Amino acid sequence: MFRVRFHGRGGQGAKIASRLLGTAAFLEGYYAQDFPLYGAERRGAPIAAFTRISKEPILERGVIAEPDILIVMDETLLHDPMAMPLTGLKEDGVIFLNTTHSPAEAKNRYKIKAQIITLDITKIGIDTLGKPILSTLAGGTASKIAGLREDSLKRAIEKELSEIITDSELIKKNIEASLYCFNTINPVEVKTSKITHKGSTIISMPFEAASISTPSINTKGNTPLRKTGNWRTFKPIFNYELCNKCMICVARCPDGCITINSEGFPYTDYENCKGCMICAEECPTEAIEKVREVHTWKTLQ
Ligand code: SF4
Ligand code: SF4
Repeated sequence: MFRVRFHGRGGQGAKIASRLLGTAAFLEGYYAQDFPLYGAERRGAPIAAFTRISKEPILERGVIAEPDILIVMDETLLHDPMAMPLTGLKEDGVIFLNTTHSPAEAKNRYKIKAQIITLDITKIGIDTLGKPILSTLAGGTASKIAGLREDSLKRAIEKELSEIITDSELIKKNIEASLYCFNTINPVEVKTSKITHKGSTIISMPFEAASISTPSINTKGNTPLRKTGNWRTFKPIFNYELCNKCMICVARCPDGCITINSEGFPYTDYENCKGCMICAEECPTEAIEKVREVHTWKTLQ
């Protein structure tokens, strides 16, 4: 059996990625099981999703504590003490990491003993889909690592995406982007692990208490317990020449990150702005620019 665990941020598509992998495996004649596990239902919050693939019926249940394949869709999660995506990764397992760094650099930086594959799928997502939605890209990388066929992946994307979106052009773009990732990654050998028939696996997952992951609910209008600035893929930049001080951005920011300076202009608390870009979408004068955030290992400390 292959046990695959995905780690992503809310909105990136980890759940769909795990489903695509499961469907591709099913279409290839395997038994498959996939499911997500959310902490807080919050855009940008860490989430995990799981896929089991086996030639025999899968009677094992519960979250995957020791994955054979680990898919980390956002490198910032490795710097998040509450996400801990490397937990349980086997030394003879395989990890895919979405990063701009090479496998050797990442291996050294994170002290990873397992085989590591890296690719900047955030850039691929932005370039091909116009958004950092990574479900089909992560599904493509996972399918390649799991040794599935390209045609199974393509059929899985067609099937799953046609159930949730109607834009055929967008589905086509997702297939192209996913197959690009599939074909960019070199094949790897992954050791399968023994199938168990012991029913539910009860492990403790490191999800945080709601008082920490959703502090804006539990604490008065702010995020004092959890700095969320490193969740960003995009950063809002204000252009005061275009700003008419309407304060719509202040009202719309879901994290209460925008306040007003002494001249009456809005500004963002970048320690907590998670980069959802709702402010830019809502601004009537297009005074907020969407700029790609560049996290470096130094800034992620
Ligand atoms: S929504 Fe746009 S125009 Fe209005 S205050 Fe914010 S930045 Fe200025
Ligand atoms: S991107 Fe804008 S709306 Fe989103 S958290 Fe940052 S300041 Fe708030």
